[in-house]
Amino acid sequence: MSQRKLFVTTALPYANGHFHIGHIMEYIQADTWVRAQRMQGNQVNFVGADDAHGAPIMIAAEKAGKTPQQFVADIASGRKQYLDGFHIAFDNWSNTDSPENHELSRQIYLDLKKAGFIETRTIEQFFDPEKNMFLPDRFIKGECPRCHAKDQYGDNCEVCSSVYAPTDLVNPYSALSGAKPVLKTSEHFFFKLSDPRAVEFLTEWTQNGQHVQPEVAAKIKEWFGTRTNPDGSTSEGLDDWDISRDAPYFGIEIPDAPGKYFYVWLDAPVGYLASLKNLLNRRGENYDAYMADPLLEQYHFIGKDIITFHTLFWPAMLHFSGRKTPTKICVHGFMTVNNGEKMSKSRGTGLDPLKYLALNMNPEWLRYYLGAKLNGKNEDIDFNAEDFMLRVNADLIGKYVNIASRAAGFIAKRFQGQLGSIGADSQALLDALQAPQAAIVQSYEARDTARAARDIMLLCDKVNSYVDANKPWELAKQDGQDARLHDVCTTCIQAFRLLTIYLKPMLPAVAAQVEGFLAIAPLQFADAQTLLPAGHVIGQYQHLMQRVAMEQLEALFEPPAAPVVEAPQPGGENNQAPTLGAVASSLPPEGAGSTLGRPGGAAIAPTITIDDFAKVDLRIAKIVDCQAVAGSTKLLQLTLDAGEGKTRNVFSGIASMYQPEQLVGKLTVLVANLAPRKMKFGISEGMVLAASHADEKAQPGIYVLEPFPGAQPGMRIH
Ligand SMILES: [Zn+2]
Repeated sequence: MSQRKLFVTTALPYANGHFHIGHIMEYIQADTWVRAQRMQGNQVNFVGADDAHGAPIMIAAEKAGKTPQQFVADIASGRKQYLDGFHIAFDNWSNTDSPENHELSRQIYLDLKKAGFIETRTIEQFFDPEKNMFLPDRFIKGECPRCHAKDQYGDNCEVCSSVYAPTDLVNPYSALSGAKPVLKTSEHFFFKLSDPRAVEFLTEWTQNGQHVQPEVAAKIKEWFGTRTNPDGSTSEGLDDWDISRDAPYFGIEIPDAPGKYFYVWLDAPVGYLASLKNLLNRRGENYDAYMADPLLEQYHFIGKDIITFHTLFWPAMLHFSGRKTPTKICVHGFMTVNNGEKMSKSRGTGLDPLKYLALNMNPEWLRYYLGAKLNGKNEDIDFNAEDFMLRVNADLIGKYVNIASRAAGFIAKRFQGQLGSIGADSQALLDALQAPQAAIVQSYEARDTARAARDIMLLCDKVNSYVDANKPWELAKQDGQDARLHDVCTTCIQAFRLLTIYLKPMLPAVAAQVEGFLAIAPLQFADAQTLLPAGHVIGQYQHLMQRVAMEQLEALFEPPAAPVVEAPQPGGENNQAPTLGAVASSLPPEGAGSTLGRPGGAAIAPTITIDDFAKVDLRIAKIVDCQAVAGSTKLLQLTLDAGEGKTRNVFSGIASMYQPEQLVGKLTVLVANLAPRKMKFGISEGMVLAASHADEKAQPGIYVLEPFPGAQPGMRIH
């Protein structure tokens, strides 16, 4: 089969908070699919981006005292640790405020306008009389007009997925001020989805069985039918889509319409194309030529909460602006944790991905566990701690890894690491392992990794039955059984290699280790039709994977030890579930109370992200002067030079340990961005770092930090 050319994306995360486990699940699903494609020799560009625009980010940035651009950049800088941590390998990560996205969004809009799909209308919109601004959809809440769920946003319902206008909400209120919003008129731009051309195109596109899963197509079909409006009237077909917002707004200004901006959902999906274009530009490839290839396939992985945007608005935008429409929209359900609440884009609870990594839990446990649950349908899945432990330990350790560990030692010790030849019964086993290659690849293609995992584990069972029937550990003790032992152990290694090929999209790091151990090139699916030749020398087996321990899961789901400062939230939404920042908790619960878990007399503080650490600006400072403080036995008054062209005055409680003259001329570490503090003796403009035991009575002493020689005043400590 000829090589396929694929462009793959995941939904763009809104850049007002860190990733939660729902994001990670989607990325793992897409990454696994992409890896399976590459193992077939297909060419893939796999891109993501931050969804940077919209009022929530504008408002959150303002609260944080940053520009929206800086706010988004700070969020983006925290993405890598999650992606690398779970072996999620995007080719590019951009954001929707990029020059490519501004340009593409405007072009698409102008093309839609030329095709007659844009019209302006004066509408009445909610205005917050206290904040003196038009209220963005996400800042109006109320009761869903369709299913009457409470506390739904102004643009769509998280319970029934309906999309509607904020003015349709029952009992609306401003989430910014709590005020009852008033109606005010404004000119808005609409994308005419009610146009018969759009209805005809979308009916065909969504219902022809090619682009969405059947259960998703059935859902979409309901939106085309006759609906009952909140006022009791009925509507047919699709409503026009309001694509503009009034200033102030962080977004892309609409061409020839000063003060009007694209609604964030207009330019967000264009961000897929923009991130791709950014990647191709950097590689010196031509974006237009790439997109013009009729064989190019375009796949979007998304959650079920954003189906409308991706199966109606997005294909219509692309089609009527004269662009290629997606090949498939791959919709997954939500993930619940321990049968808890659903996870959606804006609410993260339960399983903190960074905490998982910080606990040294293997990312491939999660990749495999989620893979074994995801079946390519739009269904919710649950992460259950006990099930996770049983599944990973039984499948990956008990069935898969053990095959190699049981055979590799004999090959190394008895046969100088060389593989031998294979008898007829062994060949029959390997034939049985090679036969389902196409079926397993097909399961990956259909995103039915649950089926792939099931099939692969059945193959593992066959190999383990073979091992139990042949008992290499007994053959090794018997005289004259060397040839048989060599055959059996060689067969195990060959089988292990085949199983590794099949598992590789889910377990990329383990597969890389196995490739090293077997001394072979990176495995492709086609390699499953060959075996390693007799005489091939393999390397030393290194343990591939630990078992999941119950203590790790207990620590993972332990409630937070102490409240932690919350990550930025869309303003005013104070009724949200805790974000990542708030659920992070202290690491090792074991030994708490004993000295073991309490170094220096205190347990290690709750886990922070690198972003949290980066907020603390630590600088080298020179102590240019130091004085005793009249009236205080504890404090010394330091005059510090941190390379700023002026000195700082800092009080430090170190008088019990140091004479002022001991410190003059020394370098130390200053917390340079600590808010100035007014003390009895004057204002302290920062803090110097010093170490002490938590119980200063039991173990007195406080020790000022001093850098190694070479550090200069003003240098930042990272
Ligand atoms: Zn609803």
